[in-house]
Amino acid sequence: MKQVVAGVDIGGTNTIFGLADSSGKVLAEGRILTKDYPDIRKFVAALSEAINKLRKKDIELIGIGIGAPNAHYYKGTIELAPNLPWKGVVPLAELMRKKNEVHVVVTNDANAAAVGEMMFGGAKSMKNFIVLTLGTGLGSGIVINGEVVYGHTAFAGELGHTTVVPGGRECGCGRKGCLETYASASGLVRTVLQLLSEFKEESSLRDIPPSGLTSKIIAEAAAKKDPIALEAMDYTAEMLAFGIINSVVFSSPEAVFLFGGLTKAGDILFNPVRKYVDENVMPIFKGTVRILPSGISESNAAVIGAAALAWNELKK
Ligand SMILES: [Zn+2]
Repeated sequence: MKQVVAGVDIGGTNTIFGLADSSGKVLAEGRILTKDYPDIRKFVAALSEAINKLRKKDIELIGIGIGAPNAHYYKGTIELAPNLPWKGVVPLAELMRKKNEVHVVVTNDANAAAVGEMMFGGAKSMKNFIVLTLGTGLGSGIVINGEVVYGHTAFAGELGHTTVVPGGRECGCGRKGCLETYASASGLVRTVLQLLSEFKEESSLRDIPPSGLTSKIIAEAAAKKDPIALEAMDYTAEMLAFGIINSVVFSSPEAVFLFGGLTKAGDILFNPVRKYVDENVMPIFKGTVRILPSGISESNAAVIGAAALAWNELKK
């Protein structure tokens, strides 16, 4: 019998899942629509059935790792997640455990990405590193001495909501000036809109309606040397660098891995981030932290991260 774990990534629209072996190889994948199941018990039943359908005869399922927004690692719950159909506190790990009779572990997607990086990605030999996921928001997983930091409440490691501009841009968390309002795909779009209104420079981005602007379009414009796009990329990189510099002082990582849609901009993002980190980090940390792309392939990274979470737990 070949032993596998299931990695599950729950999002507001889709729940994707897959079976992965102990080397992180994904053997089979599937998806269900999260919003089709407003009743958590029906969701658990449908997800469990779908996972079991992926199993061939000679495969034994020994654990399930789940990445989900607002997941509470200690309690195995999802709590007050605004973009999921289930209200209040949902005992997801317990329900999945009862249904499948295997060990189940739950955490947020950025923490799962950090465990994925540690087990199967670029951080295999590292004990101290940070993963930043740059999507609509900015998620983070912080590893110190080989362990993901969860803190007193299990919600530690939310670097996206550290303040970089007091009284700055309004954030979805209800506060102002959070890092993710600047250093994320949506933050980049906000920066472009601001620059377009403040400056008169020619820009191909002026022809695009504000609601149609995406980080991908902006990155493409920057690659063609559009001045507004380049300025916006540079500002985004500078703000991201501030977030990284503050984290370096706090936990001295060997590397910071950048992951997610925004990183497709490549050198246009990475080079200024490296420059600003190098110029502004405290002297004692100069040259000690590498800014790297994630070592996990983007196509099934969420499944690999969640599967790594399960393997990591089974190792303990
Ligand atoms: Zn915030």
